[in-house]
Amino acid sequence: MSEIPTHIDFRANVQAVQPEMPASVRKATARFLGTRAGVVAVLGEERWQQLRQAGHDIRFHTLQHLDHYLLLLEQQVTAAGGHVHWARNAAEANRIVLEIAARHGVRRAVKVKSMATEEIGLNHALAEAGIRVLETDLGEFIIQLAGVGPSHIIVPAVHLTKEGIAQLFREKLGVDAPPDPFALAAIARRTLRQAFLEADMGISGANFMVAETGTLVIVSNEGNGRMCTTLPRLHVAVVGIDKVVPDMESLNVLLKLLPRSATGQKMSCYTSFITGPRRSAGEGGPEEFHLVLLDNGRTGILRDEITRETLLCIRCGVCLNVCPVYNHVGGHAYGFAYSGPIGAILSPQLLGGKVAGDLPFASSLCGACAEYCPVKIPIPEILIRLRRRVVEGDHVEAPSAPAVVRVAAGAGGLALRLPWLYEWGTQLLKVVQAPLRRDGWLPALPPPVNRWTLARPFPAFGADFRQWWRRRTPEGRRAAQQRRARGFGLLALVGALAVWLLRRRR
Ligand code: SF4
Repeated sequence: MSEIPTHIDFRANVQAVQPEMPASVRKATARFLGTRAGVVAVLGEERWQQLRQAGHDIRFHTLQHLDHYLLLLEQQVTAAGGHVHWARNAAEANRIVLEIAARHGVRRAVKVKSMATEEIGLNHALAEAGIRVLETDLGEFIIQLAGVGPSHIIVPAVHLTKEGIAQLFREKLGVDAPPDPFALAAIARRTLRQAFLEADMGISGANFMVAETGTLVIVSNEGNGRMCTTLPRLHVAVVGIDKVVPDMESLNVLLKLLPRSATGQKMSCYTSFITGPRRSAGEGGPEEFHLVLLDNGRTGILRDEITRETLLCIRCGVCLNVCPVYNHVGGHAYGFAYSGPIGAILSPQLLGGKVAGDLPFASSLCGACAEYCPVKIPIPEILIRLRRRVVEGDHVEAPSAPAVVRVAAGAGGLALRLPWLYEWGTQLLKVVQAPLRRDGWLPALPPPVNRWTLARPFPAFGADFRQWWRRRTPEGRRAAQQRRARGFGLLALVGALAVWLLRRRR
C-alpha cells in the first residue's frame, strides 16, 4: 500500500536495496526477455517492426485527438448504463471513489492490479476511510502483505524469492507455507476466494478503453480480474485518460504488442471486455459501473511536444527488463508506482521536478529501452529533456539542482568553450585533488561536493587528451616543442622588459 511521495531521493533509496534483490530481479527479467525474443522471432523482425510503427501511430493519433475520443468514450459508457466521472488529480479521484463507496455502504473491496490506483494512493485513502481493500493479483497480494509498493509494472513482487514469500505467508497469514510456488499460489487462492464472495465493491484499472464502444479492456494472466469485476454488486474503474484507443481495430494492434512485450506471450490468459454493468437481473456482472477518468498531470504532459510521447506507454514493462540500472537496483529505488525507464520519465512529470527530479538522472542513456519499447517512445530523448528541465527549472518548477551543481555545470560549460581555460582548469584540479587521491580514485570529497562520494568513489583527474596526444604522436611532440619555444620566448621577452625597466629606474 503506497502513499504519494513528497520527495524521492534515488541515491538514498539505492543504498537501501537488499543485497540479494538484484539477483532475483535479473532472473525474472532475463526470463521475460527470453520468451519475448521467441515470440518476436516467430512473427519475424519485419512484421514486428511494422506492428511497432502501427502501435506508435495509433497511440500518437489518439493523443492528438484525445478530447474527441474521451468525449466519445463518455458517451458510449453512459449509453451502456455506466457512470463517468472526471478527476483532475489524485485527491479528486480518491474523493470520487470514496463517495461512491459511501453511497453503497461499502465495507470490503477487492481490487485488480492497477498502476493508476497505485499512482493516486487509493488503497491508503480507502484504509483511512475504514474500508478493507484486498489486492487480488498474486503479486499485489504478496506486496500488500509485505506492506511495500510494486517493484515492477507487471510483476509487482519480482524482488522476492519463493523462500521470502513463504516466510511472509507464515508470518502474516499464520499458515504452514512451504517455499513451493504451487503451494503458495494455492494458499493465496484459498484466502482470496472468500474475499471475492464477501466484497461489496470491485476496483480495477484498465489496459485500454475503446472509445467507439465504451469498452474497458483488462489484460491479465490470473482469473482475479474477472472475479473482481463481476462478483461484487459494484464495479469502480480508475483509468488514466491516456488509456483510450479509438476502436477495436486499433485495439487489435495493441493487443498484439502488449503481451508479447510484457511476458513473451502471444496473448494473455485472460483478456476481459467490459461494457457497462449487467443489462438485466438474470445476467452476471455488477449492478452499477463507474468509470473515473484520471488526468492527474497528463494534460500538462501533452503541452511539451517531446515529453508528450510518454503518454504513448502501454505499461508493458519491457523497458524495465532491458534497463541496466533497473536490473541493478530494482523498482523500489524509484520511490513511486512506476519504476525503470518509464518511471524515470513519467514520475517527474506527474509529481513535478521538486519531488522526482532525481529520476531522469537514474539512467545510463544506453537507449535499450527505446529499442525495445513496443510503441517506440523515444525515452532517452525525453530523459535529456527532463534533465534539462530539472537543472534549468521551468515555468512550473524552480531549479531543483543544488547550487554547487549549477555552479560546477556553468564552469564546466565555460571551460568546454574556452580551450585554454579547460587546460588550465584540469591542471589546477590535478594539483588540488593530490591530497585526496588514492590509487587513481577520490574516495571522499569534502562538502559541499561530497554527495557523489557518500555512495561511491569519484575517478581522479588524470592526464587529459591533449597531454596524451602531445606525448604519443610526432605532431603532438612538435606542437609541444613549439608551445615550449613560444613560452620561453615570452618569458625571455618579459625578463628583458623587466631588466630594462629596472635599469631605467636606477
Ligand atoms: S515505455 Fe514502452 S517499453 Fe516501457 S512500459 Fe511503456 S510501452 Fe512498455
